[in-house]
Amino acid sequence: VRITNCHVHTFTHEHTPLGFLPRPVTWLARFGFVRALLSWLARVFDPERKTPLGRYAQILETSYKKDQAAVFAIVRGFYPQGTRFVVLPMDMTHLNAGPVPTSIAEQHRQLARLRDQHPGEIVAFAAVDPRHPDIVASTIDLLENHGFQGIKLYPPTGYHPYDSRLHELYRYANEQRIPVLTHCSRPASVQYRGTPTPEMQKDPEHGDAPLNLSHDQLLSYFTRPDAYLPILRNYPNVNVCLAHVGGAGDWRQYLNHPWNPPAHDPDPNWLARILELIRSGDYPNLWTDIAYTLFAADDYVYLLNALLTDEKIAERVLFGSDFYVVENAALEERRRSLRIRATLGEHVFERIAHTNPEHFLTATTTL
Ligand SMILES: [Zn+2]
Repeated sequence: VRITNCHVHTFTHEHTPLGFLPRPVTWLARFGFVRALLSWLARVFDPERKTPLGRYAQILETSYKKDQAAVFAIVRGFYPQGTRFVVLPMDMTHLNAGPVPTSIAEQHRQLARLRDQHPGEIVAFAAVDPRHPDIVASTIDLLENHGFQGIKLYPPTGYHPYDSRLHELYRYANEQRIPVLTHCSRPASVQYRGTPTPEMQKDPEHGDAPLNLSHDQLLSYFTRPDAYLPILRNYPNVNVCLAHVGGAGDWRQYLNHPWNPPAHDPDPNWLARILELIRSGDYPNLWTDIAYTLFAADDYVYLLNALLTDEKIAERVLFGSDFYVVENAALEERRRSLRIRATLGEHVFERIAHTNPEHFLTATTTL
């Protein structure tokens, strides 16, 4: 079986806004010995990684690797030789958290070079944000001339996925059968930091009447599964993957109260909603990946195993890990992916880690 991990990241601190972490943390984290000390404290005092210190010390350490190649070398080592990785860049330009030292254009160039140094091992997606004035032209250039094979969205940074500035790009993706992968869990770990603008408060599907949502509700509104329905309907050749199957919080809640919305958000359970949309058969271009969520808690793999007994679900789920945003990544990525493989069995694992990714990416890769 040739595994495809459909969801990994290699961006580093240089692609992250200067104000992303509180200022003293950013200042201190520049020093290797401070990060080493944090890692050591985390290992000694929080081996189970139950506190933010334990969770973020490792992420911080990885994000301070020299470059994307150094980060990729780590995740590559967790999987069998010949594994293929879909690498998703991260565009935090408009996060409202200060300037980003290395631009998204340069992040894309670095990723293209890394891919060329590892023939056949990396599928590069292009990060898209409608707030870049030349977003359609620059993305089509990456897809046509630089070997990028998909589009990566991250609406919690402050835009609706059906933003009218992206429609031309979706038309192109529909013609060329370019897949889209997007963040779908709440609350997102990377979020727009500013006050929502009047522009953001307009639903591109429903006209100019302001939504009048609070900051958190608005970002959740952009990110929820139903925000993708107009794309799924209007661009049937675009495979859309809602990453994280709704997210670890919604999985926890699904095990307890499958249909109740969480206290802070009126939208019903996202895992339940994604399953419902796939089972309806109305959206044959809808996909989902298990990145992060299945690596967040050990008992979710049993629920996944049960969900995958439904043929309609089994043919639309993709294997992914969310390296290196997953807590415990360095200690656990290999073990957890092996546990998923062992629990699901070879046949089902082969479907989500080999067969389905081939179909999802079909537009641009040979089967
Ligand atoms: Zn991710």
